[in-house]
Amino acid sequence: MPKRIDGKAFATSLRHRIAGAVAELKAKHHLTPGLAVVLVGEDPASRVYVANKAKQTVEVGMNSWEHRLPADTSEEDLLALVDKLNKDSSVHGILVQMPVPKHIDSAKVLNTIDPAKDVDGFHVVNVGRLSTGQEALTACTPVGCVMLAKHALGKLDGLEAVVIGRSNIVGKPVAQLLLNENCTVTIAHSKSKDLPAITRRADLVIAAVGRPEMVKGDWLKPGACVIDVGINRIERDGKKILVGDCDFASCEPVAGHITPVPGGVGPMTIACLLWNTVRAASAIKGVATPEM
Ligand code: NAD
Repeated sequence: MPKRIDGKAFATSLRHRIAGAVAELKAKHHLTPGLAVVLVGEDPASRVYVANKAKQTVEVGMNSWEHRLPADTSEEDLLALVDKLNKDSSVHGILVQMPVPKHIDSAKVLNTIDPAKDVDGFHVVNVGRLSTGQEALTACTPVGCVMLAKHALGKLDGLEAVVIGRSNIVGKPVAQLLLNENCTVTIAHSKSKDLPAITRRADLVIAAVGRPEMVKGDWLKPGACVIDVGINRIERDGKKILVGDCDFASCEPVAGHITPVPGGVGPMTIACLLWNTVRAASAIKGVATPEM
């Protein structure tokens, strides 16, 4: 296993396996999983992201619907669309692209999605199921992080894991998943004291902070596995580039394994969304999720 964890290659192979699972559902159960994505407003990054989701959904053989609503869409109209998608039996996954405009209560929208179709894993029912060790649709980026860590390390049992960041989207669910994998988990955050001393204990570091190159090589235990979730746009030598939350140049020589940015965790998110849609479709239809 090379030191650099190739998330792009792993995500490509995962999508191939998902395409096989979709073909099996079609052949055995006449079931074509379908994902509906709702975008409110014109945020350019969200538009690109939604277009990529739709493209990859179709590529693995699933149905894809995009609902683009103007930025001044009322909360009531958005909730009515979610309700319609909840009732549509050809739709197995619903994703409302975040952030939504400020006049809309995002928590209300997320909790209106049928938990069985909540492929983003943000509904309180799915969060509760995850934290009580029950079968749950789980947030995509955290699932991708754990897949990459297992790809690099095999079993995670007993490892000392430090998650930096406590957001509902990444930090908390990834910590919960690692706990379910029998890691000893510490969640560090902006108020944690002496972060380098905390991370130096870790066999596995997951950085989900949003601060460019914050984690330095001398914050790591030699041989630690580093999963860098951060996506930060910075300017260097007059060029706009993407960097992670870890300083790759100083971390790579110390780490046993490390994800690059870009090409590490990033490509895993959509692949895990497609996998969640396959799982949701199988559960709604009452058939076994194909083996992967
Ligand atoms: P967030 O802003 O919601 O949370 C950041 C967390 O970092 C907070 O819990 C905060 O307590 C912690 N933090 C901030 N400053 C800190 C410091 N100095 N020391 C320790 N902890 C500190 O961000 P998020 O949504 O969790 O995203 C984190 C990063 O991951 C961002 O760069 C984001 O772009 C990226 N991200 C990537 C993907 C992907 O790869 N697909 C998906 C989601 C988020």
